[in-house]
Amino acid sequence: MKEKLAETIRMYHLKGWSPATSTNYSFRENGKIWVSRSGVDKSKFQADDFICIDENGTVQVPFQDIKPSDETMIHVLIYRLFPEANVILHSHSKHPVLITMKNNLVFSVKNYELQKGFSGVKTHDCSVHIPIFDNAQEMSYFEEELPKRKNEIQQHCFLIRQHGTYAWGENLFAAKRHLETLDYLCECELAQL
Ligand SMILES: [Zn+2]
Repeated sequence: MKEKLAETIRMYHLKGWSPATSTNYSFRENGKIWVSRSGVDKSKFQADDFICIDENGTVQVPFQDIKPSDETMIHVLIYRLFPEANVILHSHSKHPVLITMKNNLVFSVKNYELQKGFSGVKTHDCSVHIPIFDNAQEMSYFEEELPKRKNEIQQHCFLIRQHGTYAWGENLFAAKRHLETLDYLCECELAQL
């Protein structure tokens, strides 16, 4: 999994989704959470740039001297709230960032064929709604808001205003599909504004 996810991280960097060492990624395997370490140029991200944390976000031996991402707690909260999540991807792609500046609490779309990229959506003939959270450096904001709005999170992803996207899935394949579906829908809607 480390190798496969590292390859995805480098590929997303090529798409411009993680400039200036930004973004973070994780996976859960055999009860352990592995999260990307902070400050790595994502074009050079390697399998050994993941560090192990516990379910509360505490860095585990022998990685205790390495700084995890500032947003590690968002990963911890997603794993806690969505037991089906095993891989979490985060993007700073410009399309979702711009969409959050044109919408308030929710980004809604309807009738796109690609909505079926979200697990559980069977037809283009419906609306899907993606919650938007404000940006915050204090993780206490997400600790409060994510559980409160959990029922709004139906498509395995959410947006953070002027920041980016979090998407997850039961495996890397599903997580990628959710992240890329959301990015595509944001790009399509932006083109019409
Ligand atoms: Zn971020």
